[in-house]
Amino acid sequence: MTTSVLVLGAGFGGLELSTRLSEELGDLVAVTLIDRADAFVFGFSKLDVMFGKRTPGAVRLRYRDLATPHVRFRQETITAIDPAARRVTTDGGTYEADVLVVALGADYDVAATPGLAEAGHEFYSVAGAESLRDVLPSFRTGTAIVGVCGAPFKCPPAPSETAILLDEHLRARGVRDRVRIQVVIPFGTPVPPSPATSEAILAKFGERSIEFVPGRRVTALDPATHEAVLDDGARLPFDLFLGIPVHRAPAVVEASGLAEGGWIPVDKHTLATRFPGVYAVGDVTSVGTPKAGVFSEGAARVVADQLVARIRGASEPPGYDGTGSCWIEFGDREVARVDVDFFSTPGHPTGTFTAPSGRTAAEKAEFATSRRARWFGLSGD
Ligand SMILES: Cc1cc2nc3c(=O)[nH]c(=O)nc-3n(C[C@H](O)[C@H](O)[C@H](O)COP(=O)(O)OP(=O)(O)OC[C@H]3O[C@@H](n4cnc5c(N)ncnc54)[C@H](O)[C@@H]3O)c2cc1C
Repeated sequence: MTTSVLVLGAGFGGLELSTRLSEELGDLVAVTLIDRADAFVFGFSKLDVMFGKRTPGAVRLRYRDLATPHVRFRQETITAIDPAARRVTTDGGTYEADVLVVALGADYDVAATPGLAEAGHEFYSVAGAESLRDVLPSFRTGTAIVGVCGAPFKCPPAPSETAILLDEHLRARGVRDRVRIQVVIPFGTPVPPSPATSEAILAKFGERSIEFVPGRRVTALDPATHEAVLDDGARLPFDLFLGIPVHRAPAVVEASGLAEGGWIPVDKHTLATRFPGVYAVGDVTSVGTPKAGVFSEGAARVVADQLVARIRGASEPPGYDGTGSCWIEFGDREVARVDVDFFSTPGHPTGTFTAPSGRTAAEKAEFATSRRARWFGLSGD
């Protein structure tokens, strides 16, 4: 008998889940993978686009190249999810399945930060990164703020990486001494679970004259005065604002009854929702790990392993352990790594730091290359 699995969202979570089910189960499973987009883009590729290192076309991995047999991809927009019936409506039809996995990620709510659209830029979408790529070359003097508008947000080290890469970009153009860079983050340190990582980032900030404004969130931009308004009322003047917008679950998830407090609650070991046969993985959940691709992928592997065991009649596999590794760009073609563990000591995530090096940069490149090959059958980078 074939088990039907409907996977909503072809990001890190949806791609890994579909690939693993196809590899492990072959004809025993019929996977339908739905995404409104025609291509996948790694989150970190947006930094490459913003700093003009790669073109948007070069970082798009087209779903038409998906290399997975037993997976049917549909480019459609999901308009309704009925988790009790495991029924999904899209602009192209209606689907029902034995198992439903929601991997719809996090959307950006630019309008939640008044003034952001008029006076600033977000760099978390490809379009936003592209618009900054066009603005950066003419930015020569003044204050640049890298500011977080709300938590949780994807890839907690990304604002720090962006400031370091901005410094490098301005140095290369010989205008760094005319620019002030400030980073506004709602945490006390850049990467709270790992004091060693935070110390290394703050040391780099010190070395590069990047100012760190901890424990603060940008609530609005004032287009008249060109000031960022912080959550304590303080105002920081800026000439260029690079923003991390407020994140929220996609509207279709909010309307489905799956979300509570903004995100989908799941059993943290099995990723099961409260609806039988319905799982959720990745950024769309409140599982307790950061919103990052490596965690979405790890959670997807756990759901896949459970389905494989169930379909094959094998014993229950180990549950999700809440661990993952994040890379951090340090400039000069060096990348650091932090290995984080969110579940071993409840309430106290821990992280181990690996200092920046060319070797870790190669490891990050290999991470991307291996996913391109595994999910899309593409060689090279
Ligand atoms: C600048 C930046 C740097 C980053 N760096 C890293 C990094 O170094 N390492 C790391 O691990 N993570 C990084 N991330 C985070 C990472 O990209 C995300 O956390 C990851 O993509 C989440 O995976 P996901 O599968 O949960 O969701 P996503 O990858 O966001 O996938 C969700 C999918 O659902 C689709 N979708 C949403 N709504 C609908 C709908 N209604 N109908 C149809 N389809 C829909 C979307 O099109 C999308 O393809 C970075 C992110 C950014 C922005």
